[in-house]
Amino acid sequence: MSVQAGHGQDTNMDERIGSGLKQRTKQALQDEFLRKAVAFTTDKLKNGRLQAMDAFGDWEAWRDRGRAIREHTNSHLDYYLSQFADNVAGNGGHVYFCSGADDAVKTFMGIADRHKAKLVAKGKSMVSEEIHLNHHLEDRGIEAIETDLGEYILQLARETPSHLIIPAIHKNKQQIADLFTDASGQHFEPETKVLAEYARKKLRNYFLEADIGLTGCNFGVAESGSITLVSNEGNGRMVSTLPKVHVVVMGMERLVPTFEDLEVVLNLLARSATGQKLTTYTSILTGARHPEDLDGPEELHVIILDNGRSAQLGDPIFQEVLNCIRCAACLNVCPVYRHVGGHTYGSVYSGPIGAVLTPLLQQDMKEAGTLSYASSLCGACYEACPVKIPLHDMLVHLRHRKVKMKLTSLPERAAFKTFQTVFGSVTLYKLATKSGYYLQKPLVRGGMIKAGPAPLSGWTQSRFMPMMPKQSFRDKWAALQAELAAKKAAREEQR
Ligand code: SF4
Repeated sequence: MSVQAGHGQDTNMDERIGSGLKQRTKQALQDEFLRKAVAFTTDKLKNGRLQAMDAFGDWEAWRDRGRAIREHTNSHLDYYLSQFADNVAGNGGHVYFCSGADDAVKTFMGIADRHKAKLVAKGKSMVSEEIHLNHHLEDRGIEAIETDLGEYILQLARETPSHLIIPAIHKNKQQIADLFTDASGQHFEPETKVLAEYARKKLRNYFLEADIGLTGCNFGVAESGSITLVSNEGNGRMVSTLPKVHVVVMGMERLVPTFEDLEVVLNLLARSATGQKLTTYTSILTGARHPEDLDGPEELHVIILDNGRSAQLGDPIFQEVLNCIRCAACLNVCPVYRHVGGHTYGSVYSGPIGAVLTPLLQQDMKEAGTLSYASSLCGACYEACPVKIPLHDMLVHLRHRKVKMKLTSLPERAAFKTFQTVFGSVTLYKLATKSGYYLQKPLVRGGMIKAGPAPLSGWTQSRFMPMMPKQSFRDKWAALQAELAAKKAAREEQR
């Protein structure tokens, strides 16, 4: 069996992030299985996080410490990047700073060409998804194999991840068994043990045969130039040690200054992501293999990607988005994500962090900026975030940016202009509330508007709207005041 190198179905998804959002939402809401599966798993992760927080002690103090570390690092990112790069090079590694996706892909291809690579074994790497590396490898005839089980399942299904840490959150055992059956020509029952055993055996050969092992980087430690990888499957360790060449693809903001800081963020990450005290495998890799080492790659290459990140540095509102440690806690509590899953966002990064990060990284408010509306602004994401990123505030700022750039539709702009005019004038407001009562009458059934015309229908499709009362609050208040004044006058007359 040969696995297709790319996550095929979503190659062009980013181009229709905004215009396809409504359609994808509609489809997801009709998919009963997806909604139940996403709600079930996110509940489990959320409860695990809450228990881990309780057991940990003063969680708020840890959050503050985590935020301070990330804030400090990103405020001095030039210094820490330079320190990190010097230390990687000092340990025999090669560092490449890439401004965009094309640059990063070209750099990777250069390394692959030098080694005449035919097979790349991949550990989990969101940045490689961000630059669509698999598609480029496929185009070059290089086979890329995802070795994280969830990613491997999605590779067979030719889909992109729908959750930051549980990429195949939307698939059940039967669907996975069907995918394995199709790929291998051998029949599989939907049994976890059997399926995991098959994947383990299948993937083991790839670790041994791969020309290049590719991983992401959870955290780079500036003081030593170390790459930290966390995983629950151990594949990251295999990918980074068995092939002769190890390539790391990481975002430029994924640094912490010291090992002391690493301890804090690893504690926050494991507890916020899965409720674990520590992720099962935590690997800290410093440089390529030294003569005294028993194993490890002969070459280490670290590709550091900007791709829109540096544009956020110094921004008083959005720099904080770079503090993200990709734990997915915000996805697990988001009422929108929990209803529609990750593919609805049309971006590699989904949920509240995806809705903020995607337009900023792509510097595209027209299409990607529409994601800022995929939120109820309830603030649950902020409450859950281990480094206190105010995502709900950022979403409002993104909406504001979209409005200022006149990127909202003409009817929407006209509606809000009218709203502003009416609510800015007492006379017009009174007139609107009075006439509204009569205008709504043809739509009212039993005191409720149950099926409004567009655009009101968007609301009434999922809930009823109470009718406007005949007497407004202002009128009632004025009547009450008049009644009280009359009573008072009557009492005074009687004295
Ligand atoms: S924004 Fe916060 S909660 Fe969401 S993934 Fe990043 S660190 Fe985790």
